[in-house]
Amino acid sequence: MSTCAALIVAAGRGSRFGGKLPKQYCRLGRQTVIELTLKAFAGHPQINSIRVVIHADDLDLYQETVANLSRSGVQINLLEPVFGGDSRQQSVCRGLESLTQAAPDLVLIHDAARPFVSTQVIDRVLAALVDHGAVIPGLAVNDTLKHSQDNFTAGTIDRSRLVRAQTPQGFHFEAILAAHRSAPAEAMSDDAAIAEFAGLAVNIVPGGAENIKITSQDDLQLAERTHFLHDNKTFQSHETRIGSGFDVHRFGPGDGVTLCGVRLPHPASLAGHSDADVALHALTDALLGAIGEGDIGDHFPPTDPRWKDVSSDVFVTSACQIIAGLGGRIVNVDITLICESPKISPFRAAMTETLARLLDITPDRVGIKATTTEKLGFTGRNEGIAAQAVAAIEMPKG
Ligand code: MG
Repeated sequence: MSTCAALIVAAGRGSRFGGKLPKQYCRLGRQTVIELTLKAFAGHPQINSIRVVIHADDLDLYQETVANLSRSGVQINLLEPVFGGDSRQQSVCRGLESLTQAAPDLVLIHDAARPFVSTQVIDRVLAALVDHGAVIPGLAVNDTLKHSQDNFTAGTIDRSRLVRAQTPQGFHFEAILAAHRSAPAEAMSDDAAIAEFAGLAVNIVPGGAENIKITSQDDLQLAERTHFLHDNKTFQSHETRIGSGFDVHRFGPGDGVTLCGVRLPHPASLAGHSDADVALHALTDALLGAIGEGDIGDHFPPTDPRWKDVSSDVFVTSACQIIAGLGGRIVNVDITLICESPKISPFRAAMTETLARLLDITPDRVGIKATTTEKLGFTGRNEGIAAQAVAAIEMPKG
């Protein structure tokens, strides 16, 4: 299987854009343009690594981008950024030079200012790279094209042989590196031009109408509308459901407890039919409650020997499968553990990570908190642990 690197060009100053921030760091809703762009490549199974070419002045902005991506739990093999040059061509060339050690078989060169590139467009470029050394996504020109002179038309151009070149443009790495090294420094506007200059045949695959390039403030506004229309469609066709759950298990003999799927050493264990993970039981009830599917006892009766000593993640996974089967999606969960001991905070990060994986959501969508009851009641007397959970689920309407 070929290795593939994505090279994201984000070093431009955006002279046509104006404004305080370079366009790639402007917000579209809650995310910046470059965050959306990086996410489009991060999830692609055939892309092994991503290198971003940035402007030296943007290092802080870029680092903020990386921090945001990691906070939202995006898995991305992001290499250290490299600084670009005076022109796009120079920036790409520096980016390619920075990949010589890694020497991927293929490289996809993409403008950071095209945040809506679809998986389908990336797939089409990669598929064509099996048979071709250079591939670009292109779109037919629908508008009639005119020559203009002093605000008057001066002839019509035959558009039948024209395409609008988009990115990502894909290449066999060694070939495009050699082409860039030998290209004259005359600021060619895309990498296909450099490939053509080097005598490479450049194949065209269908691009995407949504794959717009943000060049002006108008484009940013259009992108904002596109982005929000998409969000709005989801909003109109879905509704948010809330479920809550509560559970208690008493302490018995043993040497540890399992909470949120994590084993904690403790001079007692929780008694129960399964592993007695009180937090996961409350969570299962919250998930089932949100979709009106009864409770954990209906689905996994304690009288059934199948559930004896079983790990409670089975219950959560099963609730998740029911939700997914109904077309639902978990938005977030929040759990409170109520006990005098053990101390939860040293294990909270591991619990968050375990639950995020179990629920297939990002860690920022998992809340885990602990409290005591000030030595009052059964939890205060250290007789057991209680847990409560809430879950928000996005479900298709109707
Ligand atoms: Mg229970």
